[in-house]
Amino acid sequence: MSILDIRVLGDPILREETKEVGEITDEIRLLVKNMFETMYLAKGIGLAAPQVGRTERLAVIDVDKQPIVIINPEIIESDSKTSKSEEGCLSIPDVYGDVERPARVRVRAMNLEGEMFEIESGDLLGRCLQHEIDHLHGKLFVDYLSVLKRRSAMAKWTKEKDKYPGFIRHLDSDPARSHEHPDEEL
Ligand code: ZN
Repeated sequence: MSILDIRVLGDPILREETKEVGEITDEIRLLVKNMFETMYLAKGIGLAAPQVGRTERLAVIDVDKQPIVIINPEIIESDSKTSKSEEGCLSIPDVYGDVERPARVRVRAMNLEGEMFEIESGDLLGRCLQHEIDHLHGKLFVDYLSVLKRRSAMAKWTKEKDKYPGFIRHLDSDPARSHEHPDEEL
């Protein structure tokens, strides 16, 4: 088991498209295990492969003490109604913003046994699923902010980013972990 470094905003990998996972190998199983450990240590509720410098199309989520692995996930239905709520991201520590998203989504994905499953949620889990699937396509929550909100988020980030040389967040010496966050990070 090892704790992985988290890539922060500015690392180009966060903007790359991921690659579909073919078969579930030991390497994938180990990656998932390490991603869960890393996410729990960072006190996050979701973590996508590009956030730890990987290109596999997969993410881990644990919103309510229920660990979920989504491999090659796809949103197959989304509500036309939207809801707005504050989001944060382990890759943009200490920056938050209100994001409007479909209120409910249905996702199809593969699990670690290689089986397809579907999951539907209109709660925090639904928001988390959308946030993580965005990561797998190079999209970040700040992309949804209005011009003004985005500008102030980026101004805040400009002050924060120097804490992460090389766009790497080492969790064992992490400035953002030293205090409690009001919000959950994805
Ligand atoms: Zn995120």
